[in-house]
Amino acid sequence: MSLLEVQGLKTAFHTAEGTVQAVDDVDIRIDPGEIVGLVGESGSGKSVLARSIMGLVESPGEVSAEEIRLNGQSLQEMSDEDLRAVRGNSISMIFQDPVNSLNPTLQVGEQIAENIRLHQDVNESVTLSAEVKRKILGAAKNAESWQRAIEMLESVGIPEAESRAQSYPHEFSGGMAQRAMVAMALSCQPDLLIADEPTTGLDVTIQAQILDELEALLTEFDTSILLITHDLAVVAETTTRANVMYAGEIIERAPTEELFDNPAHPYTEALIASTPRLENPDDRIEPIPGSVPDLIDIPYACHFSPRCPEATEECFELEPEPVDIGTNHEASCLKREPVGDL
Ligand code: SF4
Repeated sequence: MSLLEVQGLKTAFHTAEGTVQAVDDVDIRIDPGEIVGLVGESGSGKSVLARSIMGLVESPGEVSAEEIRLNGQSLQEMSDEDLRAVRGNSISMIFQDPVNSLNPTLQVGEQIAENIRLHQDVNESVTLSAEVKRKILGAAKNAESWQRAIEMLESVGIPEAESRAQSYPHEFSGGMAQRAMVAMALSCQPDLLIADEPTTGLDVTIQAQILDELEALLTEFDTSILLITHDLAVVAETTTRANVMYAGEIIERAPTEELFDNPAHPYTEALIASTPRLENPDDRIEPIPGSVPDLIDIPYACHFSPRCPEATEECFELEPEPVDIGTNHEASCLKREPVGDL
């Protein structure tokens, strides 16, 4: 059984200018123990898709889906209370901009300890008065939740974790704050971690360290990861399967190696050609012409057609359906033949 099964997910925002179809009929699946990539340019709908799965899209956003299941349970049929419990216990999310995602008024260790008290079996009161007292007086440093918070900070590679736990978020560098976010997200030992651009804005060395840590944590905590990024190099290094998103739709999906060896959709080919290669830094980089379209009432059937070097007249009129091109590889392009028709 898949850990996460999403089918036919749509997210729309109704605005004065018209309906923004930010996510349009997306299917996505994550199996236990996998790191699955979701890649695409900024504005392609990746973060909205993640927030839609988490049930975090607020009005005027409207989410509908044929199915959103975690461990076989329908998230759509759950009460708000049960959904909140799932968000705390079974799914965690690391948001972009880690420094601003942490509470600036609380020590980092206390934020993680609070999460542990709420979601793990520690014998400490979580009544409102007990939590308020902790906020005013500080957490008891001999409490189990505090000790586990320090262990979590150590596990994500924060040096001198015991003293750093007493720092406030503004005292952390971007890389340290990102590690603290990973520690916080994993402190409830989720089945699924959704990591939204977890390395954006960090220098290359810190990026590599955080990605290594994510991979190690997958094994240690038995957590699957949906890794959202605009960076194909991150997907190539870290994931086993990858989904490419463009203008609200998944336009190609395949095992990661297959996707890079045999990209089938012109957008994926263009993304790969626009990505610098560490092993061949002198290779020419070809930027993708144009930009992601405004998602209000897109007038052409294939949303990539104005930017596509292979576009013909039919691409503006006929909507491409996903085509099975073999080896668990699908691409939504009118110019690709299904495997049985080759
Ligand atoms: S359907 Fe046409 S425009 Fe769209 S990606 Fe394929 S060739 Fe390009």
